[in-house]
Amino acid sequence: MNSTARRQFLKAGTSLAVLGALPRAVQAAMAPTDKYDLLIRNANVLDPSQGLTGRRDIGIRYGQIETIAPTIAAERGARVMDVGGKLVTPGLIDLHCHSYPYGSAIGIPADELVPYQCTTTVVSAGDAGANNFAAFRRFIVPASRTRQYAFVHIGVAGLAGFPVPELYNIDYAQPEAAARVVAENADIVLGVKVRMSENVIARNGTEPLKRSIKACEMSGVPAKVMCHIGGVADRALMAQILDLLRPGDILTHCFSGAPNLAGDGTNIVQDGKLLPAALAAKKRGVIFDIGHGGGSFDYTIAEAAIAQGCTPDTISSDIHVFSGNTPGMPYLPWVMSKLIGLGFSLPEVVAMVTTAPARVIARMPKHGTLQLGAPADLSILEVVDGPVEFVDTRDNKRTGKMHLRPVGAVVAGVAFGRPYQSPFVVR
Ligand SMILES: [Zn+2]
Repeated sequence: MNSTARRQFLKAGTSLAVLGALPRAVQAAMAPTDKYDLLIRNANVLDPSQGLTGRRDIGIRYGQIETIAPTIAAERGARVMDVGGKLVTPGLIDLHCHSYPYGSAIGIPADELVPYQCTTTVVSAGDAGANNFAAFRRFIVPASRTRQYAFVHIGVAGLAGFPVPELYNIDYAQPEAAARVVAENADIVLGVKVRMSENVIARNGTEPLKRSIKACEMSGVPAKVMCHIGGVADRALMAQILDLLRPGDILTHCFSGAPNLAGDGTNIVQDGKLLPAALAAKKRGVIFDIGHGGGSFDYTIAEAAIAQGCTPDTISSDIHVFSGNTPGMPYLPWVMSKLIGLGFSLPEVVAMVTTAPARVIARMPKHGTLQLGAPADLSILEVVDGPVEFVDTRDNKRTGKMHLRPVGAVVAGVAFGRPYQSPFVVR
């Protein structure tokens, strides 16, 4: 398929997906006494996509949001979940996650993260490279109730060789192989992942990023680079990396304060000053993504960057088998709580894990919303008021006035846990 044909094919695919939502037809067929498959009652709804806040009941049928109303009688639900005034948001989307167990050395099964994260969609950030992507597609994605997307790693083995740095040998970075995976899996692959810190690429400079951009361009589909930063080889390299990123590309670990191998701070804030190249990247539409992880969120960088104009666009966890055991506790609701502590409002923070990453993914109509006809993905959280202490990945501590506690999640109208349904049918 040439690139024009591929673009037309993708366009057709998109419109089919829109038809597949069928919101109005389903609603018209629902008689006043018909039951919702799942009725969520006493929800404190917060949906930034439509400015919706307040106490609502939510009727779900055929895997979609059917009705949101001040009250819906309990008898209307085949199954009823009373959430007792807890916060209900569109299903949380984790744009930087490691969800390829058995294939990458650091992955966790996405569904195992639900009790800690309430995530209904996760994006595997370069766990798979061209050589092991097929197993992710064939065995991991269909076996997961959590919706999954991916960035394919520019290195052919992805993160299977962790902790051995994947690009000390630049020959592992194969643009043709990555481009083929992007093109052949454009329904779930968003683009190409590259890790640019010195402890991953040694002295290979901008070459790994250039090969990643080339792979995106060669694919013939609209593909984005997710570029990991941290301690890069020297101060000038950070500006060079930022200058290469295109509008829509994602800068992950944007507030990393990790030093390079010589111990120098080579991040987007150097000596307290935001790099002009970072502000320029932000202004031309590069997505600034948190990617907290076990070593990539530094309050001193975040506070300086935010004060000087680089606010985050998306909040992500970078959760994996190592970061999940660190004191920074980079589980998504906890990272959201840290951003609230930095002064962002609850609606702003919820938007950074719903509408904003859904725009980056751009694969499913009404993803990241609770609009009528949207896929019935919801997260249930408890707003816990009271003093709390947070720690970043460099032992800087900050206090907050509240935090979010994960309670549960519903994917495509089916709850994780109770109430169960028979037969246990999931998408
Ligand atoms: Zn990561």
